[in-house]
Amino acid sequence: MTGQEKSITVKTPDEIRIMLAANQIVAGVLDLLRKQIRSGQTTMLLDRWAEQYCRDHGAEPAFKGYRGFPGSLCVSINEQVVHGIPSKKVYLHDGDVVSIDFGVLYQGFYGDAALTIPVGAVSPEKEKLLRVTAESLDLAIAQVQVGNRVADISRAVQEHVENNGFSVVRQFVGHGIGTSLHESPEVPNYVQKGKSSPRIVEGMVLAIEPMVNAGTYKVKVLADDWTVVTADGRPSAHFEHSVAATADGPLVLSALRSGND
Ligand code: MG
Repeated sequence: MTGQEKSITVKTPDEIRIMLAANQIVAGVLDLLRKQIRSGQTTMLLDRWAEQYCRDHGAEPAFKGYRGFPGSLCVSINEQVVHGIPSKKVYLHDGDVVSIDFGVLYQGFYGDAALTIPVGAVSPEKEKLLRVTAESLDLAIAQVQVGNRVADISRAVQEHVENNGFSVVRQFVGHGIGTSLHESPEVPNYVQKGKSSPRIVEGMVLAIEPMVNAGTYKVKVLADDWTVVTADGRPSAHFEHSVAATADGPLVLSALRSGND
């Protein structure tokens, strides 16, 4: 999702602790769904589980009602890239890859993360797509170093993805996150040549979210005004973490901590 541009905010250590708690609720949701997901379930069932877990942990689902989005969870299957709407009529099948993206509002701060899950056995192409996208996120996170630029994150994703024969979506990008779900700066998954890129400073929190297509990078939005699909119908994957820049390097707020499962 893209959002309103604001100036870049930096968070205090206390604020980052709250954002860690918010993102651990997100991580708990994604881990629950990863373990429970099966062929034959509806995407609405996943939405119900996610919202219940979120509310049981004292948080509000951040996407519900955001610009009119009807669900709590974005569920995007196969050629769907992001922003799929949960439905009682859409069933999961063996061989699908399912991208789930969840956000919470907790004590005034947002958490946001995503991952793509295989249902049963999936094709070798889909398996590679998921692996390369997850790897590109890890490489991107390693660039969250004070003194680097946001473009270093973008470059890490783009190089790894394109070296593996896949493409990165241009039309949707990662973002700053804090007391708003979408803050500055934008975090593209490709290098914007000739455009200046913000310096990473201590206390900056970024939602880094490579969206990677097996075929063309081009996407379109379906008639429901939300669901983003690949232009060529080939599969797509999406992995996201919320990451704080600290003096000691990247702190991945949405990585599940032991004891929280
Ligand atoms: Mg996001």
